[in-house]
Amino acid sequence: MKTLESLVRLNIWALEPYSCARDEFKGREAHVFLDANENPYNDPINRYPDPLQEKLKARLAPMKGVRPSQIFLGNGSDEAIDLVYRVFCNPGKDNVVAIAPTYGMYKVCADINDVEYRTVLLSDDWMFEPEVLLDACDSNTKVIWICSPNNPTGNDFPREAIHKVLTSFEGIVVIDEAYSDFSTNQPFRSLLDNYPNIIVLNTFSKAWASAAIRLGMAFASEEIIVLFNKVKYPYNVNLLTQEKALSLIEDRGAIDNWLAQIRREKENVLPALHELPIVQKVFPTDANFVLVRVTDADQIYRYLIDKGIVVRNRNRVQLCKDCLRITIGTRQENNELLGALRFYK
Ligand SMILES: *Cc1c(COP(=O)(O)O)cnc(C)c1O
Repeated sequence: MKTLESLVRLNIWALEPYSCARDEFKGREAHVFLDANENPYNDPINRYPDPLQEKLKARLAPMKGVRPSQIFLGNGSDEAIDLVYRVFCNPGKDNVVAIAPTYGMYKVCADINDVEYRTVLLSDDWMFEPEVLLDACDSNTKVIWICSPNNPTGNDFPREAIHKVLTSFEGIVVIDEAYSDFSTNQPFRSLLDNYPNIIVLNTFSKAWASAAIRLGMAFASEEIIVLFNKVKYPYNVNLLTQEKALSLIEDRGAIDNWLAQIRREKENVLPALHELPIVQKVFPTDANFVLVRVTDADQIYRYLIDKGIVVRNRNRVQLCKDCLRITIGTRQENNELLGALRFYK
C-alpha cells in the first residue's frame, strides 16, 4: 500500500475539523450544561447526541470482531460511500475502478464528486479476474469497489480473488458486505488487521431489519477512521438512531429468528421460481434477494405492478437484460408473488 498521506487529498490531510462544544470538556465530570446553546427543557432530545457514538461502538465492536476505534458510523452506508470520495479522491483528477453490474451509489457519488468511474464487466457467471481489475487502474486510481455478495447479481466472490486485489493494489479497496449476514462465507471485516488498505461496509438496513433508522458502518484501520470522523458532519447519527440500534442489539434473538425465516423462505422461493415457464434463469445467490432472467422483464414488471407487487426491474442494467431482482419476503408475500407469476399470460 502507498502511504496513507499520499492517498488522501491534501486539503483533507491538513483539515482542522470542527470542534463541538462537548469535545472541549470531554473526560471530565459535569452536570450543568450551558456550553452548547441547547434548550434546557425536553430531556433527552434537547441535547446534542454523542458525535462519536461511543456507547454504540463499544457494543458493536465485539459483535463485529473489531476494535471500537476501527468503526465509523454514518447516516446509512451511503454516507460512508460518499466519504470515501471526499477523503481520497481529488475531483477532476483521480479515478476509481469498480465491477459492473454493481450497487448504483458508487457511481452516483463518483459523479457528484466529479471523480472518473471506471468499470470492469463481470463474466457470464458474474465473476471477475483480479488481473483485469488491476489492469484498469493507473497512477490516479485511488479506490477499487467490490460488493460481495454483489448487488444485483447476488453472488459472493471467491475469497482468493478479493485477497489478490487487496494485496496487489496500492490504494484503497472497499468491500461492501451489506449482505454478508445472509452468506455462509467468512466476512472480510474479520481480517482488518491483515489489510491496512481495506474499508469494509456493513449496514443496519438489510439483515438488521432497520432501513428506516439510517445507520451504516465502515470498518477500517484507526488511521482511516480518524479521517472519516474529521470530514463527517459533527452529529451525523442522531440520538434516536443510536438508542434504537442499542435496543436492537439487546434484542439480537429477534434478528436471528428473522434471518432464519428468510433463509427458509429462500429455499422455497428459488426452486418455485425455477419451475415457472417465464423464468429462463435463476442466478445463484448468497443474499436475501435473487436475480432472475425472464422472458420479458418490462412486461412482467408492469404486470406485477398492476397487481400491487413491486420487484426491481434491472432490464436496463449492463449485462442484466430481462432480469428482475426479487427480494425474499414473508411466506405470504412470496406466495402472492409466485401465484401472480404462475397466472402470467
Ligand atoms: C442496501 C445496500 C446498502 C445499504 O445502504 P444504506 O445506506 O446503509 O441503507 C449498501 N450497499 C449495498 C450494496 C446495498 O445493496
